[in-house]
Amino acid sequence: MSNLKQYIRSIPDFPKPGITFYDITTLIQHPKGLELALDGMETYVRRIGADRVVGIESRGFVFGAALADRLDLGLSIARKPGKLPSKTITEAYELEYGTDRLEMHEDSIQPGEKVVVVDDLIATGGTLLAVCRMVERLKGEVVGISSVIGLTFLPFAEKLKGYDLDYLVSYDSE
Ligand code: AMP
Repeated sequence: MSNLKQYIRSIPDFPKPGITFYDITTLIQHPKGLELALDGMETYVRRIGADRVVGIESRGFVFGAALADRLDLGLSIARKPGKLPSKTITEAYELEYGTDRLEMHEDSIQPGEKVVVVDDLIATGGTLLAVCRMVERLKGEVVGISSVIGLTFLPFAEKLKGYDLDYLVSYDSE
């Protein structure tokens, strides 16, 4: 899906020097860009046969919600701490400096459900791993991970080994 790349804007030195930020706002602003991305994700999720979509705050919500609607599935969400009003579980993950956490409602996954976890971009894979762990603690089965972008110069494949992983475009150098 290399034609998707034309819709993704690369911003050097954001949010800090040395990091290239892959900006999907330009992709979702464009009807064709959004459609192409969702077509690719939909094809993958139909193949793996999920019965629930989990979207990660906040760009994972954009793709996750549209995908769930296309597939006639429910959407569950993983949010930053303190945002979800009912009983939650939480999982920490490592950032470059320190750690962060995500939360899910305890009743957002039913035992035995086949779940696809959705985000916009996989860098180290730490965010996705934290969400996969929460899904499993809630007795769901992670049947796949779907992302628009994979930064293949980072070792996310190792971190997420054992999970079925799909991304539509990759960047293989910083
Ligand atoms: P990670 O946990 O390292 O895989 O980071 C993935 C999360 O951070 C995703 O939710 C991305 O939206 C965001 N992210 C990390 N690196 C970048 C980047 N270079 N450009 C855009 N978003 C990024």
